[in-house]
Amino acid sequence: MSDDGAADDGTAPTDRDHAEWLDALADGDGFAIVCPDGHGSLPPRRVCPDCGSPDLSREPLDETGTVETYSVVHVPSPRFADDAPYATAVADFGPTRLTGIVRGGDASDDPPSVGIGDAVTVDVGERETDGERLVVFRPVTSAGDD
Ligand SMILES: [Zn+2]
Repeated sequence: MSDDGAADDGTAPTDRDHAEWLDALADGDGFAIVCPDGHGSLPPRRVCPDCGSPDLSREPLDETGTVETYSVVHVPSPRFADDAPYATAVADFGPTRLTGIVRGGDASDDPPSVGIGDAVTVDVGERETDGERLVVFRPVTSAGDD
């Protein structure tokens, strides 16, 4: 696979790289782009957004992340019309920070409860409004609950 950024299939490199990343994540093979200084980011990247290093490698994403911040959206943009209310969160997975939607195990109308510092796993889900794929966080229940 060429990595020179040339898009000859009519798909913008950004969309293609993001789709590839979502594919990997859906396969339980999520990864981050990490520079020698340990800064994590997500594709597409040519250089580290933190220090500008071009020496980037793919590292496996941590299985569990920690919620840094979250907010509950009651009045969504049209693309999320059927998903509201929902909770978006930013979670740290090792050196890499991800943004996603929080979903619980059931399809209740209310957004699942989530708090800063909670552990979450990351998965790929579909937006209810139009089926577009997106990053989904699932709260990790403690006490060995299966
Ligand atoms: Zn860096």
